[in-house]
Amino acid sequence: MQFLFNTTDAPQAYADGTGHFPEAPERCPHKDCHKPVKMRKHGFYERYVSIRGFHEKIRIRRYRCAVCGRTVSMLPSFCVPYLLHGVELIIQSLLLAAEHKSVRYVATRWAERVGSLTRRHIYHYRKGIIRNRAQIQLGLNLISPEFVELKQIAGDSDWTQSFLETVRHLNLPKFNEKYHALTNTSFMSSHNNVA
Ligand SMILES: [Zn+2]
Repeated sequence: MQFLFNTTDAPQAYADGTGHFPEAPERCPHKDCHKPVKMRKHGFYERYVSIRGFHEKIRIRRYRCAVCGRTVSMLPSFCVPYLLHGVELIIQSLLLAAEHKSVRYVATRWAERVGSLTRRHIYHYRKGIIRNRAQIQLGLNLISPEFVELKQIAGDSDWTQSFLETVRHLNLPKFNEKYHALTNTSFMSSHNNVA
């Protein structure tokens, strides 16, 4: 299970090992366990994260439940679960591609600072959002009534554009965190993070 948290530490701090993590949960977050026993530190794992000007391995704190033995990983909310690219990079690249009507433009223009971002990624992210439209809309309704209006939009392409235009004005890591806390999934994934 992954848990997203907001942080004021820069991504570099999580590469250096100086980034802060939330304290251990006071009870197991796995629903079929949920024992009120404080979880214990269970080391770190490493994962890459790629944002503009930063492509490095960062350390992710893990806690373990002493009762059921399962773990929870603490992911800074600039990261998206299971994806290499950070939330701001994903949203901004999709917006820029739409603005210039060219995915190639973004991949080429950002190649120097985001070498890991290819045209294939941008297509993949856009497709993922369209595919998850129904689920994303449900999550948006929970976050704020202002998002409910998006539901009326007929075409998937128009809906996706409106979604991007709406979230671009938000603090994206906070949006990412809130969405995940409310739905237990990432807005970029239909994968249910209960395992
Ligand atoms: Zn447990």
